[in-house]
Amino acid sequence: MPIDATQPYDDQNIFAKILRGEIPAKTMYEDAHALAFHDINPQAPQHILVIPKGAYVSWDDFAAKASDAEIAGFVRAVGEVARAAGLVAPGYRLLANTGMDAHQEVPHLHVHIFAGRPLGPMLA
Ligand code: C5P
Repeated sequence: MPIDATQPYDDQNIFAKILRGEIPAKTMYEDAHALAFHDINPQAPQHILVIPKGAYVSWDDFAAKASDAEIAGFVRAVGEVARAAGLVAPGYRLLANTGMDAHQEVPHLHVHIFAGRPLGPMLA
């Protein structure tokens, strides 16, 4: 079910549990600001999710409330994850579903990285 991006943060959401180590994930990167893991239901040969360590429901929540250091750290982490996975030369796509119409399902901000095949033109 898609979520309302304006809802309060629910610390029982599945990515909060992954951050706390309560449920497993195929983690491939971690630093002070971000955690990255392989999507459990990949939509491309490479499908990685990057999440901030702070408690933010959505891209909107993050953009409005996170500190400059958190935002810079998270953006740099997304780039580092893609670089570490060798995706820069072949190319990759970033996506951050936000709220109902975008079909955001997990109420903790996550950026999808899709790669590993020609992804075709943007679908909107
Ligand atoms: O952007 P959206 O909220 O729709 O994406 C949620 C993503 O989280 C899905 O791609 C889903 O496969 C992934 N997921 C995951 N591990 C979980 C639960 C969901 O990788 N335990």
